[in-house]
Amino acid sequence: MKEPENWLRDFLLTWILPLAVLMVIWSFVFRKMSAGGPGETFMSFGKSRAKIYGESEVKVTFSDVAGVDEAKEELMEIIEFLRHPDKFTKLGGRIPKGVLLVGPPGTGKTLLSKAVAGEAKVPFFSMSGSEFVEMFVGVGASRVRDLFQQAVQKAPCIIFIDELDALGRARGTGMAGAHEEREQTLNQLLAEMDGFDPRKGVIIMAATNRPEILDPALLRPGRFDRHVLVDRPNIKDREDILRVHIRGVKLSKDVDISVLAARTPGFVGADLANIVNEAALLAARKNKTEVDMTDFEAAIDRIVAGLEKKRRVMNKKEKETVAYHECGHTIVAELLPTTDPVHRVSIVQRGIAALGYTLQLPTEDRYLMTRTELLDKLCVMLGGRVAEELIFHESSTGAQNDLQRAAIIARSMVTEYGMTEKFGPLTFEKERRPMFLDIGLPSGAKEYSEDTAREIDQEVKRLIDDTYKKTQGLLGANQDKLRMLAAALLEKETIEGEEIRRILGLPEKKEQDHGVG
Ligand code: ADP
Ligand code: MG
Ligand code: ZN
Repeated sequence: MKEPENWLRDFLLTWILPLAVLMVIWSFVFRKMSAGGPGETFMSFGKSRAKIYGESEVKVTFSDVAGVDEAKEELMEIIEFLRHPDKFTKLGGRIPKGVLLVGPPGTGKTLLSKAVAGEAKVPFFSMSGSEFVEMFVGVGASRVRDLFQQAVQKAPCIIFIDELDALGRARGTGMAGAHEEREQTLNQLLAEMDGFDPRKGVIIMAATNRPEILDPALLRPGRFDRHVLVDRPNIKDREDILRVHIRGVKLSKDVDISVLAARTPGFVGADLANIVNEAALLAARKNKTEVDMTDFEAAIDRIVAGLEKKRRVMNKKEKETVAYHECGHTIVAELLPTTDPVHRVSIVQRGIAALGYTLQLPTEDRYLMTRTELLDKLCVMLGGRVAEELIFHESSTGAQNDLQRAAIIARSMVTEYGMTEKFGPLTFEKERRPMFLDIGLPSGAKEYSEDTAREIDQEVKRLIDDTYKKTQGLLGANQDKLRMLAAALLEKETIEGEEIRRILGLPEKKEQDHGVG
């Protein structure tokens, strides 16, 4: 009577066991697929993963976003519309549909779009372009459809697509096949944008830092036809942004926000937020009760050029070379009339590349520069190399970066600004092409002949040579100052601006009136 037992065992082995194994694999695969959304099962696969913030949840308002006044002004109309959509439609005004925020990374585009929702007190659906793309075939498109369906039910509201470029790259570029999914998703987005009625009160906002690669179809009327520029902050804006971020930070009395703003040209909002955070951490680490200026200085230094590498030692000769090199920059900058005063000179290494540094403090942000100012700037850049030659009768590799930057400026003076006698007021670069058009045209295409190119090269060389001679003359006549400052720098390693001018016996440089509005 072994028949039934065998039958049962066979049944278990041939049917139940494989099925069980299959089930395990099955559930494993699907857990992988829906990873990232906790609590999500594969049944909600096609559903949009957009983060939805209810109207009470968006706490960000315009007061949290500083220094982008023009962008805010342009967005006010959108806010008005979202607050009272019916009032708008009754008057028959043209209702914006898609608003594209354009600007470098970290300038506050994401923050600004949230602030629009916060100001208008409407729900905010946000999704990142890269999220659409990483999905399986066919899913991206259905997510887009789903996102719009959800949004229409909650109108008035905002749909925000961050990093639009990840999704909206021009179709037909890149490898064939690999981008089909993205293109399908993009097509769906275009179809949804065309299909819905803006009077329902849904505003589509998107952000990108690479508008030039966007598919032109996205920018056509009725789609993202409004562009709001979110630019890098100027000195006043940086001050305002810092003020936003120091709310709630305990500051010592010596902290001067305007000096911090002046110390951070080129920094965007995200960098500035970082500095405040870093300074607070540094102060906490030293058990201080308040954050003071030295913490901010250290935070800026850290972010500017990586951590100070005090431990790696240079040999004596290297150190001397770097000291004279930096003092060369410094003295030229202090002696010439139009250059920014030197804030600090140092031979403490920072990061991997910089052996020393000369920090000039611009008294204001500049939009226009005269020929004299550019020439003076060139002199400062060449000052490092000239000082090395003057003292050691030899050049080192330390000037590579200076020479590169000098060459770029000199070339621009010749080919873009029409600032040389030989060519006169003639520019060889075509007018900067409009940001969103002309995707086919490779930038930097030459518009002139080989002969002209050679003449331009000669002209650039002459400009550099002349400037080099001028700098040689200047430093040659002030060798005593150069030696004095370098000796002090070798001893102290870092010298601040006031002290530099005391050692050199020079007056404090006044803020300059460049006569630019
Ligand atoms: P983007 O989207 O342009 O890359 P984000 O909006 O993500 O920049 O900015 C990152 C962070 O930097 C913000 O959360 C905010 O803390 C800070 N930030 C950026 N710009 C500003 C600004 N204009 N005002 C205040 N904070 C800013
Ligand atoms: Mg962003
Ligand atoms: Zn240098």
